[in-house]
Amino acid sequence: MTSPDGGTHPAAPLLVLATRNAHKVGELRAILTGPDGALPGLDPAAVVGADAYPHVPDVVEDGVTFAENALLKARALAAATGLVAVADDSGLAVDVLGGAPGIFSARWAGRHGDDDANLDLLLAQLGDVPDEHRRAAFVCAAALVTPDGHEVVHEGRLPGTLLRERAGAGGFGYDPILVPDGGTRSCAELTPAEKNAISHRGQAFRALAPEVVAALQQS
Ligand code: IMP
Repeated sequence: MTSPDGGTHPAAPLLVLATRNAHKVGELRAILTGPDGALPGLDPAAVVGADAYPHVPDVVEDGVTFAENALLKARALAAATGLVAVADDSGLAVDVLGGAPGIFSARWAGRHGDDDANLDLLLAQLGDVPDEHRRAAFVCAAALVTPDGHEVVHEGRLPGTLLRERAGAGGFGYDPILVPDGGTRSCAELTPAEKNAISHRGQAFRALAPEVVAALQQS
């Protein structure tokens, strides 16, 4: 088993998350190890992000679905670290755009992770679309891959309606323009706990959690 560089983690890593996004690592740790999480007894420090393994190159995400891309990332990390690996792939699927930006959500405006430009472009594209046709959903596929090749994927969705301009300062990505069904605030106006409770990622990871427990018990 490879050790993470630096060796500063108090607990030995047991589970590696295939993301270098610290915001996501925090969100996923809370979902898995928080007080209401699936693994409340697990030391959060045993859950590490891909940054703990800087020598492992990022995988090319050339799948055509969220599930395929999540599996590609988890497979690569499980193989490189010898740990149980969990990955997600997520994005915004807009009905009137036939599910786009979808797997291209992070780079819709051309540059990976440019949230502001992605939002500006999407709002411009939907400028003439009336309120009743502004349906969309955040979608997340969460994949678990064990070093011995066991694989499972679960999907979660957070449906809602797209605003005409940004609302709220929290969250990331397209959060400021999606108002979840049954609410009046955008995702960027929800607290992290409120969002985790209903989010596509929360749903997908809560569905995956029992499999994570089983895989860790066997590892
Ligand atoms: P990923 O990191 O490859 O899964 O790409 C996800 C992209 O989809 C992000 O860069 C965001 O643009 C968008 N996205 C996914 N989940 C969320 C969310 O919870 N809120 C806002 N945007 C999201």
